[in-house]
Amino acid sequence: GEAARLYRPGEDPLTVLEAGTVRRALLNSSAAWVLQFYSSSCGHCIGFAPTWRALAGDVRDWEPAIRIGVLDCGEEENYETCKEYGILYYPTFRYFKAFTKQFTTGENYKAGSDRELQTVRQMMIDFLQNHSQESRPPACPPLDPIPSSEIASLFDKTSHHYTAIVVESSNSYVGREVILDLIQYENIMVKRVLNSDKAFLEKLGITSIPSCYLIYPNGSHGLINILKPLRSFFSSYLKSLPGVRRKLVSQLPLPKKQSKQEGTEIKAWKEFDKAKLYMADLESGLHYLLRVELATHKTLEGAELKTFKDFVTVLSKLFPGRQPVVKLLETLQEWLVSLPLDKIPYDAILDLVNNKMRISGIFLTNHIQWVGCQGSKPELRGYTCSLWKLFHTLTVQAAVRPKALINTGFEDNPQVVLQIMRRYIQHFFGCKACAQHFEEMAKESMESVKTLDKAVLWLWEKHNVVNDRLAGDPSEDPKFPKVQWPTPDLCPECHDEIKGLHSWNEVQVLQFLKHHYHHENILYKYAE
Ligand code: FAD
Repeated sequence: GEAARLYRPGEDPLTVLEAGTVRRALLNSSAAWVLQFYSSSCGHCIGFAPTWRALAGDVRDWEPAIRIGVLDCGEEENYETCKEYGILYYPTFRYFKAFTKQFTTGENYKAGSDRELQTVRQMMIDFLQNHSQESRPPACPPLDPIPSSEIASLFDKTSHHYTAIVVESSNSYVGREVILDLIQYENIMVKRVLNSDKAFLEKLGITSIPSCYLIYPNGSHGLINILKPLRSFFSSYLKSLPGVRRKLVSQLPLPKKQSKQEGTEIKAWKEFDKAKLYMADLESGLHYLLRVELATHKTLEGAELKTFKDFVTVLSKLFPGRQPVVKLLETLQEWLVSLPLDKIPYDAILDLVNNKMRISGIFLTNHIQWVGCQGSKPELRGYTCSLWKLFHTLTVQAAVRPKALINTGFEDNPQVVLQIMRRYIQHFFGCKACAQHFEEMAKESMESVKTLDKAVLWLWEKHNVVNDRLAGDPSEDPKFPKVQWPTPDLCPECHDEIKGLHSWNEVQVLQFLKHHYHHENILYKYAE
């Protein structure tokens, strides 16, 4: 339906957690967990979802020992929870050991940039092995290699199960993967032996690794013959041995809900005019920025605090808002300037924004109402769209009302909005990879911006670079394809052709931007 999410409970082989279930699921769990905290509106999360789903399918049999979960931090009802877990960027991967007794925010376990399926699978194994003896999930057999002498002692003795021995090098994960693949099967035990005892290997006739040696229940033994020495070949061979079958385990408990209904409400489509700017988008974006994105930072200090202060200063002077919102920004700015602290708990800021100011009628909407930033699905567009619009609006405001910045220390700086945007994106924007791309562009050419008009054009040009890069990306809303903007229907004069090649008329583009992002082009429809 409309409310389709990146991951579907019951359909994807992973556990979809939410505010009401996550703590209970993790606390005192008999299995370890790997959680992906994502945001349904983050392009990289969308792009990564197929990999994560594939991983979950690949290690589905490991569930009694280690489980895969997801939590959508882009869902309003999960905002608070993601804050508690200290999630600053999406996607964030956290590992949780089995049998934790108290709330923990989990471990950024060997959080590398490499998110290859195979690497994550190996990290899961390392993580399992990092459990203490007592806290190891009961469903997880020992994963360390056993001495070859132990194997020999099993030969020619009857037993009620098969013993499979994966012989491999010390850096191979195949043995451990096969062990875990078989944990839900009965009448078989899988062990691993390292290839260090050459004489022993020779005796067993093992000439290549990895290999799998099998001891039958009657005590006879021999090397198994497999087409390719791969995990999947070993596992499926062992699963299909006569007498080996899946244990009848009671279904793993699904996390119980503490509250809240299934799914999200489907919002009715709001008609809008794409030639206009909607205050509802700007205010919703500001709400999200102040109460959600920034609020994931527990305290602000150093460069972050400076960035926040400067940003609020510029907003209070340039945001073309309604009286209560401008008043809120001004009050916040004065408060920040008056504080002698070099470290501010973000809760103090939230308290000011949410409670203190309300009393005097100073108020910013506290729910989200996308209009020009609506997506055809809930995970598309929204906040990032509003952030672009906010910064375009600020560059235009700086250019059409340069006097507004007098006495701020920014009055003679044509790059003021761009620099603040750059710092904001760098320190606070939840999409880390976006921030990296943006930083690269800034490094390359932001310095060359010498006038406020050029700043308007710089941001326009860079936004089009991003549009070009994202065209066809999974984060693209099919209803709002990534195109070079403004399109000819919005601004025919902006487009020229020189010797058969498209070219922008920058004089016209500047004029168009100054009109489009001007306060007189703002509509208040749908703004509460
Ligand atoms: P958006 O690109 O968000 O644009 C919003 C609105 O701005 C458009 O509807 C249009 O009215 C107007 N607009 C469009 N182009 C221009 C322009 N050139 N000049 C002025 N106005 C314009 N997502 C990723 O997946 N990967 C990234 O690397 C990435 N980097 C980002 C960097 C930044 C700084 C930001 C703010 C966002 C980034 N995003 C990235 C998100 C992405 O750019 C979009 O915001 C998101 O995909 C939603 O797209 P949208 O269709 O709402 O249009």
